[in-house]
Amino acid sequence: MTAAIVAALGITLATVVAAPAGATTTCSGTTVSTADLATGCTVTSATLVLPDGRTVVIPGAGTTLTVAPVTVAGSADPGDVVVTNTGSAGVAVQTDGSWSGSPVAVTRERAALQRRVLGASVAGPQAVSGQATSASCGSTAYSLTGHHWNGTVDWRYNPTNAKASNVSALRAGAAAWTGSITTCGRTVTSSASQQYLGTARQAPALTDQGGCGASNGYSVVGWGALPAGTLGVTCIWSRSGGVAVETDQRYSTRYLWGSAATCSGNRFDFRGVATHEWGHVYGLGHVAQGTGQVMKASASTCETAQRTLGAGDARGIAALY
Ligand SMILES: [Zn+2]
Repeated sequence: MTAAIVAALGITLATVVAAPAGATTTCSGTTVSTADLATGCTVTSATLVLPDGRTVVIPGAGTTLTVAPVTVAGSADPGDVVVTNTGSAGVAVQTDGSWSGSPVAVTRERAALQRRVLGASVAGPQAVSGQATSASCGSTAYSLTGHHWNGTVDWRYNPTNAKASNVSALRAGAAAWTGSITTCGRTVTSSASQQYLGTARQAPALTDQGGCGASNGYSVVGWGALPAGTLGVTCIWSRSGGVAVETDQRYSTRYLWGSAATCSGNRFDFRGVATHEWGHVYGLGHVAQGTGQVMKASASTCETAQRTLGAGDARGIAALY
């Protein structure tokens, strides 16, 4: 019997020793690339540097971070980034649908994401017959990023360096997705919920490269530098099952903004772009530009039509909440 135990121990020890290099090691360095993550190394504290230069502080084990930009119409779209730290299985990275990072984590996260959005996503635009009064009513397209909120999104606003003074425009963008929503001749009910808690002392956790920093427990909207062509970026942190726990937003100080009831000049409409960013907060992803939905990837100056949800936007939020 003793021999059997020793033999069993020997097998166990041999298994540990024979494990592939990197399978259970910690990624070295304070910055890592997707190539580093592909070795399956684990991360407790590191910043991911993406090929396009964006940096993302890898979230803690069991947490997913979604980075969702909105761009100036005609500019290159840097794309959404989703980073999931599984803990022992390493880190999975998704950039506009392409996966990289730890193969084990990618397999797991891809399957989990498919379960969360199963049956809810629409691949492309679908015509709504008989009531297409504008471009945004002619499509019922929407997509889901795989997260949702189980309760109210409590958030604050930091006006430092603000390029638009009217916080009510921002609040209207947040509220556009909640309650009874009538658009394109139909009314849907959304249980999505948000509450503005006032002025924040904290800054939103975003970087000048358009990536996300570390979460701090506060959901904050504010202003700052972003790359040319990027109007705003939303970061969302979610936990097991895609339940969101925090969101931060930064709007670019590079551009002129307006928050008046009517938009004029070479300005971006704060309320319209905020409506788009809040769509990301609640869990909606981008749809094709031609659908005319609020959730298309880019916006033009004075595009006040983005204040109003399209048929696909309304269908998407009603499917989620
Ligand atoms: Zn976006």
